[in-house]
This record gives sequence, C-alpha cells and structure tokens, in this order.
Amino acid sequence: MGIMEDNARLEEQDKRYIWHPFTQMKDWLDEKPVIISGGGGCFLEDVYGNRYLDGVSSLWVNIHGHRKKEIDEAIREQLDHIGHTTMLGLSNIPAIKLAERLVRLIQRSPAGSRPSPNKVFYSDNGSTAVEVALKMAFQYWIHKGKEARTSFLSLRNGYHGDTLGAVSVGGIDIFHSTFAPLLFKTHKAPSPYCYRCELDAAYPGCGLSCLRKMEEILSEHAAEIAAVIVEPLVQTAGGMIVSPPGYLGGVRRLCTNYGVLMIADEVATGFGRTGRMFACEHEGVTPDILCLSKGITGGYLPLAATIATEEIHDAFLGEFRELKTFFHGHSYTGNPLGCAAALACLDIFEREKILEGLGPKIGMLEDFLREAVKFDHVGDARNKGLMAGIELVKEKATKEPYPWEEKRGWRVCNYARDHGVIIRPLGNVVVIMPPLSIGLEDLDRLLKVIGEGVASATA
Ligand SMILES: *Cc1c(COP(=O)(O)O)cnc(C)c1O
Repeated sequence: MGIMEDNARLEEQDKRYIWHPFTQMKDWLDEKPVIISGGGGCFLEDVYGNRYLDGVSSLWVNIHGHRKKEIDEAIREQLDHIGHTTMLGLSNIPAIKLAERLVRLIQRSPAGSRPSPNKVFYSDNGSTAVEVALKMAFQYWIHKGKEARTSFLSLRNGYHGDTLGAVSVGGIDIFHSTFAPLLFKTHKAPSPYCYRCELDAAYPGCGLSCLRKMEEILSEHAAEIAAVIVEPLVQTAGGMIVSPPGYLGGVRRLCTNYGVLMIADEVATGFGRTGRMFACEHEGVTPDILCLSKGITGGYLPLAATIATEEIHDAFLGEFRELKTFFHGHSYTGNPLGCAAALACLDIFEREKILEGLGPKIGMLEDFLREAVKFDHVGDARNKGLMAGIELVKEKATKEPYPWEEKRGWRVCNYARDHGVIIRPLGNVVVIMPPLSIGLEDLDRLLKVIGEGVASATA
C-alpha cells in the first residue's frame, strides 16, 4: 500500500475507534484529522510530512522541545534497568532522586519563614495531584482532632482537572455545571479577573476587593474549610487570567490568619512558564501543599507530584491500628521512566540556564501583546512569562463578548493551522504557550501567524 492509502486508513480508523477529549465528535468526524507521526524541537510533523510549530507546547506540557536528546537518553537508559515497579511497599531510584531534587528546588525559592513542602506524594496526572491534595487536606484536619472540615474554598474561573473532586473545586461553568449534582459543596470566591471584575472595581484603586470577598467567606466559614485552592498567578484554563500583583500573597496571608491550608495548583504554571521556576516565587509565597504535573517530565510522560509540609505528613503518623494511613495510591505512581525524564528535564534547566534565557522571549511576546491590544476586536491581551492570552470581544467599548457559539477562538486556530502553527483556544481567548525552548525566530513567526489569524477571524 502507498503512503496515501496508509494515511487514509489511519484517518478512517481514528474516526472509527477513538473518542477524543474535550472534542465534539460530530465536528471531528466531519473534518480531516491531523495525525502526528514525528517531530523535533518546537515542531510537529504529520503523516503527510507537513510541519507545524507547536504553539501550545502539546497542551502546556512540553518545556525543552520534542526529541530533546538528553531526555530521550535518560528514558532509554532507565529502560535498561526497569520500566515500572510499584511504590506501594517498594521504592525506586529515580523516584527517590527526583523527590530530593524537587524538595531542594522548592526550598531554594526565596520565601518567608514558613517551612516549605518537603514530602513528595507521586501520582500520574494533574487531576490526581489535586485529588491527592484535597484528600490529604481533608484527612489532616481529622487527624488534628478537629471537627471534620468538609468544604473547600476555590475560585470562580478556576480549573484543577476533570476528575470529580477536581471538578468540585473548579469554577468554569461551561465545563463543570453538567456535573453539579455529583459534586461536593465548596465556597467560591471571586476570580481575580481585572478585565471583567465581578465586583466592578478597578485595580489598584480597589485595594484588591476580591481578597476582601475571600476574607468574608473565611471569616464566616473557616471552621468548615479544609483548604483554599488556587492556581498561582494565572487561572489558565479559565482564560489565561493573570491575577494582579499582591493577590497571591494576600491569599497566603488569609489562609494563615484564618487557619486553613493553602493548596497551590502549579500544574500549569510550574517549571518556568511564568518566568520563574514556580509561580509562587513571584510573591514569595510558600503553600502548605503544592501540586505539580504537566511540565514536570518536560512533556514526555505522565507524572505528578503532590508535595506537602512535614507538619501535614506527620499528622498521619500513628500506630498501624489507628488507621491514620493515607489510603490513596495509583498503579503508575512514581513511574521510574517518568521520574528519569523529570530528572533530565531539571538538569537541562540548570545546564542550559533556561530561566535566565527567557527575558528576550518574554520581551518579544509582550511587545506583540501591546500591539495586539490595539486591534478592534481584542479586549485584553495578558501574560505572565511565556503564558499569554488574547481575549477577543465583539464590542471593545462595552467588552461585549462574542457569542461562544461563533467559535471565534477556533477561527484563529484554524487559520494558524492552515499556516503551519498549532494552537488551541479557550473560548474567545487565544492561548499562546510555546515550549520555553522556542527560538526568537520561531516565536516571531508564531506571533505573526497569530496576529494574522486574529485579524482574519475578527474581520
Ligand atoms: C491541566 C491542569 C490540571 C489537570 O491536569 P491533567 O493532567 O490534565 O489531569 C490541573 N490543574 C491545572 C492548573 C491544570 O492546568
């Protein structure tokens, strides 16, 4: 069979056998799927040999590019030892080394006097990292001998994954409202979304009135709230919503003052995306529990870590019969291949001084955003580091959004795909999140295509 027949067959089989995530399959079945067969650096290649710039880091996971030699080699080398072994009752070498490395990284962050999280609980994706954090926080208060704290405080527009616990603390109606009857009750604080402030306030004159709302909830309900969970600095899936300076530090202060735990979900913001290794570093914040995944393996393999403070860990210590054990775990917890990839990923951060080299890239992105916001149908263009969002609006003066059914964000992405760039929108927000390794020339091309795509989709 020729290559064209092979490809046609793959397309047919994809449609026959696969149900894609976050995808209206009726639309998918009507379209010609792009099937990736290879790649390298910031590029992906499809089965026809077309090349695409990976403008969303393969859904926010890729850090150092595809087929990065050192990560490839680290995985191959680990394969010569063992592919997988359980963490239930056993340990493994890469998992131990990575835990030590992660804890050192967090401690290195300049922060206040709070003890940093230093006990690493592995799982295999961002949602499970969050489930672990929620269950840990809940059980912690039981062990402290307190009345059970059955609720959490989370934010509107927040996103923490798609499993039911993570959805319970989520705040994106379009994804989450269907499942409302299945969810546990949480308290919802305002999203720190300055462009569309739900309190009709304006930063900095507002003095962070969204935090005052959070404080009102805590002052009334702290005794039933196990933890506050936030995405530090950027509510990513909510639309790349960047919180104003002081907000994150304010959340930390409120958690401390009201005696509730703080969970920082850095699944998206971790590993350099915001310009620092972790977003919490920007405001010198130390959470009680830190959730990591996505970029942890450089975007190669599914791995996650929920890192808790010693204080939380020690509350679970007890005699066997006391049943203080944390009864939670996953089959692929602490997978040695994933941990080996993660160690190689961290080595690259150090050896290639990745964070130190981000300045010019962030500068180019910010120059572009300053121009983009002048477009007739761009209401807001925002970023933190190399994570950015361009919010398209129907009416700039009134901020009236485009009806979401018009799929304006998708029109930009379709334009980009036709011009060799893969991006994926969040409703009316065009997301820009290239691998940190992107070169200035490729970044320039990515931004040009996105600029043209926005002009074309809003013409
Ligand atoms: C992607 C994401 C998750 C969920 O991670 P999965 O690996 O997709 O389950 C959780 N929290 C944040 C902030 C995320 O961006």
